[in-house]
Amino acid sequence: MNVDSIKNGIVIDHITAGLGMSVYNLLGLDSLDCPVAIIKNVASRKMGRKDIIKVDADIDLNLDILGYIDPGITVNYIKNSELVDKKSIELPERLVNVVKCKNPRCITTTEQELDHVFKLTDREKRVYRCIYCEVQAK
Ligand code: ZN
Repeated sequence: MNVDSIKNGIVIDHITAGLGMSVYNLLGLDSLDCPVAIIKNVASRKMGRKDIIKVDADIDLNLDILGYIDPGITVNYIKNSELVDKKSIELPERLVNVVKCKNPRCITTTEQELDHVFKLTDREKRVYRCIYCEVQAK
């Protein structure tokens, strides 16, 4: 992976092939006015195929969102064209305002100012439940 084209920014690597657009949308990258590149179906020795997103700006990423969509992603931070930091993403224990509870009887439906909080209840099956009504996220 050639990151030379980025001076200061972020490279989101090892995205499961096909999930690049979801990552892009959920992170709200469409609202950025800096260059953003989605590279799809890159050959990967480890994964067969993968997607990569390059953001040519020093932005704050919500790593919880990334972990929720696709644990296994690596985030590379580039400064002055050099790799300065590398983070492996894992499933977050809690999700705050990443997904919304779909249960119409949940308190978050009536109490609009409440945070939507989900807790990881099964790491293996990647199950998250609303902390208020325990309905599963999806
Ligand atoms: Zn709920």
